[in-house]
Amino acid sequence: MPNANPCLTCGACCAHFRVSFFWGECASSGGTVPDDLVVQVSPYHVAMRGTECKPARCVSLLGEVGGQVRCTIYEQRSSPCRDFAASWSDGQANPRCDAARAAHGLPPLEPPLEPLLSPDRAA
Ligand code: SF4
Ligand code: SF4
Repeated sequence: MPNANPCLTCGACCAHFRVSFFWGECASSGGTVPDDLVVQVSPYHVAMRGTECKPARCVSLLGEVGGQVRCTIYEQRSSPCRDFAASWSDGQANPRCDAARAAHGLPPLEPPLEPLLSPDRAA
């Protein structure tokens, strides 16, 4: 499955970084993130519960890191979660993705293989 989403068998970033964002992203402020899943970390910022301490693990991460994982609030997740790109998903490495994976003993994602034929030689 060359196009499988690598995040579905990883989850390392959800169990490594503090995931903090403006409190206005919470549901009670007109956003999407359920309030009971965050903790306040500054006057204007909250963090996903479980990521404000070490070892970090977001309360919304289901499954085993490096195995089958799922975000239980995927459609409601915060902007830092939406913006975090897996390495090579946008054509370049993400050192933070690599670092999170390394912290869990996982190798960095590989860039996609080059096509076997250049476009002008393809049938
Ligand atoms: S560390 Fe990278 S591959 Fe793993 S879940 Fe996060 S973005 Fe996806
Ligand atoms: S809300 Fe979902 S995507 Fe964001 S850190 Fe938690 S499990 Fe990961």
